[in-house]
Amino acid sequence: MKTASCSGAETPASMSALDHLFQNNRRWAAQKTLGDQGFFQRLAQQQSPQYFWIGCSDSRVPATEIVDLDPGQMFVHRNVANLARIADPNFGAALHFAVHALKVRHIIVVGHYGCGGVAAAMNAAGDNVVDRWIEPVRELASRHAESLTSLGTAERHDRLCELNVCSQVQRVASHPVVVEAWEVGQRLTIHGWIYSIENGLLNAVSVEVSETSRERTFSGPPDALQCQQPPLSKA
Ligand SMILES: [Zn+2]
Repeated sequence: MKTASCSGAETPASMSALDHLFQNNRRWAAQKTLGDQGFFQRLAQQQSPQYFWIGCSDSRVPATEIVDLDPGQMFVHRNVANLARIADPNFGAALHFAVHALKVRHIIVVGHYGCGGVAAAMNAAGDNVVDRWIEPVRELASRHAESLTSLGTAERHDRLCELNVCSQVQRVASHPVVVEAWEVGQRLTIHGWIYSIENGLLNAVSVEVSETSRERTFSGPPDALQCQQPPLSKA
């Protein structure tokens, strides 16, 4: 097998330390077309996912895999600690494309227990790029300091992971892209879930926010969005 390089020259794949990934890819593609010859041809025509997933970059939380969906069924944005930062152009562009171009019906913020980004926000603030990125989580922890300090370290981390999901749901629901979509009657519901790396299960942790429930949901003070404890469907 040979692979094309950007220079146009071909490099024997056996020279690559990542040859096994190409082999995995060929096997995966063959399995996908085993019972459905037109699988990739259909995907090549267009994508029409119903879901927009906002998740953590953590390698243990692969978006489509844990909800058993195929390529083409979910539009995905991931970053450290699954943040929906209004000033982040990467997130803004993905949200805009999901809502306006793909017209997804559901936006799902998915956090996870054991999140390294959330854990870092519980430590003393530094000044590297990760510290600056997770500043909203640090501020969230500060606003909930009273309830969090009564918990042990592990429980405090878990609870901050949950609160972070609810806070991001609130941010998404307040984002101009979403507000404008609701104002023109577009059907769009925002969900907040949390994933357990220890058992592979997802649970809802935030109330759902839709066009009809948003005013009721946001009538309270900041961070008033109901954050379920324990999660709604925790097994
Ligand atoms: Zn994480």
